[in-house]
Amino acid sequence: MSDAYEPLRAKMVREQLMARHIDDERVLKAMYTVPRHLFVHPDFQKNAYEDRPLPIGNDQTISQPFMVALMTQLLELTGGEKVLDIGTGSGYQAAVLAEIASVVYSIERHESLARQALHRLRELDYDNVEVLVGDGTQGLPSRAPFDGILVAATGPIIPGPLRTQMADGARMVLPVGEGEDQNLMRVWRDGNRWEVEKILRVRFVPLLGRFGFVED
Ligand code: SAH
Repeated sequence: MSDAYEPLRAKMVREQLMARHIDDERVLKAMYTVPRHLFVHPDFQKNAYEDRPLPIGNDQTISQPFMVALMTQLLELTGGEKVLDIGTGSGYQAAVLAEIASVVYSIERHESLARQALHRLRELDYDNVEVLVGDGTQGLPSRAPFDGILVAATGPIIPGPLRTQMADGARMVLPVGEGEDQNLMRVWRDGNRWEVEKILRVRFVPLLGRFGFVED
């Protein structure tokens, strides 16, 4: 997309992603294409391509570009997949996934965030993203199985319903843990076995719900 922020986006791709082992061409192209500045509050547009998370309202944040790219790369999508995205937030991660997959279902527990995200995604012609309001820890049984699942908030465990909604051979990428002690995990389903791999230490907002943390 050609806009005033294109040079900053290109720089972000080179310096924050390519320099840190993001090498999946589909992911790099998606990160170069999605106008991240249109997913943040106007006051933060000038900061949209910096190497950090940004506030999006309701005490939530849009993840750092590197984290969005890494999680997307770990899903190993090749195009044509049906993906589940938990924690829509601004809708940015959903848009990045929608550049690669054929359909994205995105669940957000805050109705106001979901509404704004949907509005943004439609304005930008992401017609292959469906945004739903609800508890993402329960997944979306009516649309399962999914070829990939990405969770952008940290819970105490890997939610059981999300495991069972993975297609055979699918991957799920999610943070697990609390406070300072969180790790990004990748789960791979092989028939009735789920292989779990620890990727790196991370910092995410809490996943609240039936198979997440209990709300205060
Ligand atoms: N992916 C987002 C950032 C997400 S921040 C983006 O690109 O902007 C994490 C989001 O998860 C927050 O919006 C929070 O409200 C949401 N969340 C937390 N628990 C949830 C749950 N059980 N179901 C759905 N969304 C949840």
